[in-house]
Amino acid sequence: MGFTTFGLSDHIMKGIGAAGYTVPTPIQILAIEPAVAGRDIIACAQTGTGKTAAFVLPILHHLASGTGTHSGGKLPRALVLTPTLELCQQVQQAVAKYGKFVSLRSTSIYGGAGMEQQIKALRRGADIIVATPGRLLDHMQRKTVDLSGIRILVLDEADRMLDMGFINDVRKIIAAIPSQRQTMLFSATISADIKTLAANILRDPQTVQVGERRNPAETIVQHFYNAPQGSKIDLLVHALEAEHMQSVLVFSRTKHGADKISRRLERTGIASAAIHSNRTQSQREKALEGFKEGKFRVLVATDIAARGIDVSGISHVINYDIPQYPEDYIHRIGRTGRAGASGDAITFVSREELQYLTRIEKFVGKRYMVNAYPGFTAAPQQAHTSANVSSSSRSGRTVPQHDNKRHPQSGRTGGHDDKRRTQSGRTGPQNDKRYTPQAGRKKPEHKKMDSYSSDSSNAGWSNY
Ligand code: AMP
Repeated sequence: MGFTTFGLSDHIMKGIGAAGYTVPTPIQILAIEPAVAGRDIIACAQTGTGKTAAFVLPILHHLASGTGTHSGGKLPRALVLTPTLELCQQVQQAVAKYGKFVSLRSTSIYGGAGMEQQIKALRRGADIIVATPGRLLDHMQRKTVDLSGIRILVLDEADRMLDMGFINDVRKIIAAIPSQRQTMLFSATISADIKTLAANILRDPQTVQVGERRNPAETIVQHFYNAPQGSKIDLLVHALEAEHMQSVLVFSRTKHGADKISRRLERTGIASAAIHSNRTQSQREKALEGFKEGKFRVLVATDIAARGIDVSGISHVINYDIPQYPEDYIHRIGRTGRAGASGDAITFVSREELQYLTRIEKFVGKRYMVNAYPGFTAAPQQAHTSANVSSSSRSGRTVPQHDNKRHPQSGRTGGHDDKRRTQSGRTGPQNDKRYTPQAGRKKPEHKKMDSYSSDSSNAGWSNY
């Protein structure tokens, strides 16, 4: 099935072609048709599924063909609400990309950036506004934006928006939008709160679901390592020095933790930056750009800041702190292994965090082994205060049969590994001697933990 079946205009088709897309993703197959037909949509889809195009293409279709028009003039006609500034920017980039050959204007409105420039952009006129709720509300209160012409409303990552406490802002914004509109709600999970919100703001919605992604892409190899909390930083440094990890996204549970990790890595000579909501917009942009360009080998992020980050070529995701929610685990590790590339997901597990590992196992329906990281010994006092987690301590576990093949990403050169690195086009500190395993150091023997079959609903689309 191609994009031609949706009845999109030639100009939009040209934009899709320029983006390099030939086959719609499952969420696009399910959502675009009813959205083009003007239906309200409630879509359960996660980041990486191609959900952005699933709502942007219908928006472009309606606005460019006039079906979403108001009385004309400069009033914005479509509004997309996103939880974070990164996602906001990313969605606006998608609008610009897919709408390259359509003469519609869009602008993004988010906190952390100057008001003046946004006011100017709004004055110039925008057909499509992509915004975070708090900043949009500021503009509403200052009367620098008029939402009375909105005919299409999208709530992107609605679950995150609620988690982040934006519900009241969202309600106020919706109250200022005409009730005669098309509304599309996209969410990674459909909780009771989301259902209540949907019941209040959607009319006879078409529900589309691409299957909650419980199984990570099969290109991602997962490793779990025993890591007393107090030894994690040493283990991280050890792993980064022992392995050829080229482009590494490290997840920390807290903002403070992210800063601490990044500072320590920098002191050790590992180029790194941190990204979280306490950093200014320009700091976040700089960190992300530096990471994309290979200037920083490591980006340390919190879950919320990592939302909306779409960086290709991440070779390793390291869960410094195991996430408390299994959905976050799937999101996090999905940052690697994208677009058919292989990737490694490494999770440090302290004894206290075993409960979260159990949650992940229940969610994905698999059991994982927690191993000692090869060649790493926790400092004695730390090992003493925080007992090691070993597979044998996990009662009732069966020890999986390891395939003793070494994973191609684990510090070797040649073959698949090299190919992928060349594709990512990065140059950088991986060539630095500091990052090659030191002579005499035992290289880690990664064991392949488990392999997954791809979600049937994602057949033919397993890597996004
Ligand atoms: P999203 O879930 O919208 O963040 O999209 C995830 C990634 O998939 C982005 O890098 C998109 O550019 C890409 N993508 C979206 N739709 C398609 C498609 N039909 N074919 C190939 N790539 C796509």
